[in-house]
Amino acid sequence: MSHISEAIQSIESQLAGRARLIAVTKTKPVEMLLEAYNSGCKTFGENKVQEMVDKSGQLPADIEWHLIGHLQTNKVKYMASFVTLIHSVDSLKLLQEINKQAAKAGRVIDCLLQIHIAQEETKFGLDEAEAEALLRDPVLDDLSSVRLVGLMGMASNTDDETQIRQEFRGLKALYDRLSAIQRPNVAFRELSMGMSGDYPIAVEEGSTLVRVGSAIFGSRF
Ligand SMILES: *Cc1c(COP(=O)(O)O)cnc(C)c1O
Repeated sequence: MSHISEAIQSIESQLAGRARLIAVTKTKPVEMLLEAYNSGCKTFGENKVQEMVDKSGQLPADIEWHLIGHLQTNKVKYMASFVTLIHSVDSLKLLQEINKQAAKAGRVIDCLLQIHIAQEETKFGLDEAEAEALLRDPVLDDLSSVRLVGLMGMASNTDDETQIRQEFRGLKALYDRLSAIQRPNVAFRELSMGMSGDYPIAVEEGSTLVRVGSAIFGSRF
């Protein structure tokens, strides 16, 4: 068995159905993605639109493609016809563009709001008040081609497990609180948290989607 399929099997058995695995394939060649696919993993996460478009054209059509990286409005149109879930919505303006392109493609696109939970200044995302304001914005009623299905966050890049757990726990608490908001196109069911270094903690804290790259495909250079 290859390293890739072994890694996928071992992660899947750890997850034990509690969360779904998104194999983060950024920078990796399509041969490796095909190996993951043949091992039964059909959900891939990319952080650049162009790379996702290029790879999706070379791989089987039943793969679910998730955009997990920072997204610019002018890139939405290239993936609107096939993207399954956008994890990185961080403004109403971006959501309006996704809605426009989804409508053109005759689809409804599921999205997550990216929440800033790490201590680092560099990570993208909304704070709690901004997320709540977006979810309560009357303009949302006009966006019938998008659905906000949950939240995404990245914990601090640290070895301090207590801090990582605290950040995930805070995101879960926010998720639970915002889940109560009733809007036609808001239906929380996904909490995307956990990467190679911290997904076991994330799952303990309530993650439904883990985004794992290097633990499957090796480190990126
Ligand atoms: C790269 C990336 C991951 C995966 O990181 P690994 O540490 O390789 O598992 C997860 N989420 C996002 C948003 C990423 O950009």
